[in-house]
Amino acid sequence: MGIRGYSGQLFGKVIPLGDEMHIHEIFWSVQGEGLRSGHPSIFVRTTGCTLQCPYCDTRDSWVTGTKMKVEQIVLEIEKYKEMYPQSQVVLTGGEPLEQDLSEMVSRLKQKKFFLSIETNGIYFQSLDIDWWTVSPKDIADFYIAADLHEKIDEVKCIVNQNLTLDVLERIRAIRTDFPIFLQPDFFNPNKYQDTLELYEQCQKVAIPGVRLGIQLQHILDIR
Ligand code: SF4
Repeated sequence: MGIRGYSGQLFGKVIPLGDEMHIHEIFWSVQGEGLRSGHPSIFVRTTGCTLQCPYCDTRDSWVTGTKMKVEQIVLEIEKYKEMYPQSQVVLTGGEPLEQDLSEMVSRLKQKKFFLSIETNGIYFQSLDIDWWTVSPKDIADFYIAADLHEKIDEVKCIVNQNLTLDVLERIRAIRTDFPIFLQPDFFNPNKYQDTLELYEQCQKVAIPGVRLGIQLQHILDIR
């Protein structure tokens, strides 16, 4: 989908790092967003995101992190899995698809992990991922790479003045069978009111599958 003519070409290509990745942090917590909210999760937060949105609540991941071998990453994930056996793995960032994930994903799938990814939607890699969460951004004109369209399990959108009914209708036009969550902008003092207002407008004009997406991690003050 190329909203307002955006082609995705302003942004860099996937960084090939061989068997290493730039990782900001790996930690265990609860998934706080979307349909899989409440699931115990091992988060792998990659370093780097080209978009640098003003409302980003993970901005410390844009630049800081360490290089880790894929083997080390998998070992770290397995340590958490021993402590919390029911956990899924959530690949997030930053923007995870700015790095080549193929080796890590393949090793984790060999070990039967349920893999979830959270991406801003401007890149695509053909990966054996179980759950695709796409969060298109106004700064990229809400572009979602065409190859992602058939993969999407859910969409999350931050509510601000750029997220209009027209934009939501165009996201809805991709497919009608995934939910679109409206999420408050963490830095907006009127975030809940603004989100509720847009939600109500969506219901009045009957955009199918629009849901409220209140983030557990901010309410519980956990990461
Ligand atoms: S796309 Fe996501 S991770 Fe990247 S800057 Fe925007 S909010 Fe942050």
